[in-house]
Amino acid sequence: MMAKFVIVGINDPYMSTPLNPKIPNTSGERLWKMTGLDIDEYMDLFTLRNLFELGDTFPNPRAKAFELLERLDTDEPVSILALGQVVSNAFGLKGVKPFVWMDMNVRLAPKSKFYDISIVVLPHTSGLNRWYNDQDNLAMATEFMKATAQAVKLAADPMECPECGKITLQAQDIETTPDGKDFIKYECSECHHEENM
Ligand SMILES: [Zn+2]
Repeated sequence: MMAKFVIVGINDPYMSTPLNPKIPNTSGERLWKMTGLDIDEYMDLFTLRNLFELGDTFPNPRAKAFELLERLDTDEPVSILALGQVVSNAFGLKGVKPFVWMDMNVRLAPKSKFYDISIVVLPHTSGLNRWYNDQDNLAMATEFMKATAQAVKLAADPMECPECGKITLQAQDIETTPDGKDFIKYECSECHHEENM
């Protein structure tokens, strides 16, 4: 299955859950509201993390991104939604378009293992980010977060495999076509049949 869907923010001035959706007028709340999910479902489906911790004085973003992947402690592919440029740069992305899913095989520290990640960039939902003042931008981001939330929700439930008939068809990954459409890659855990939907 799609093992982990992680939203990565920068840091947390509130010393609580990273990107806590329960604190009004924060990046975390704005992000959650865009998904259209109820709050418990949101917190169930998404793993919320920050790149930096309080007290990080000389942050090395790349090393922090590596630590974050290590701490997830999974051998399954990881889907990452990077909030803003600081985070996407930390994962080795430079000047990429937002809302486009990319598959990467990354090694973020010397001699570390390689990680398979799918990553997408969303403009940071901080109240200081004027990008969201443009209503078209806000609508585009909201549509993207809604679609992503529905895909992650779908991925949590296996479906009937059209090949072998067992309820073992599970979402693996979200991908984006060259013309900007998101689709989900499914694979049957029994017969390894693959579907894109
Ligand atoms: Zn099958």
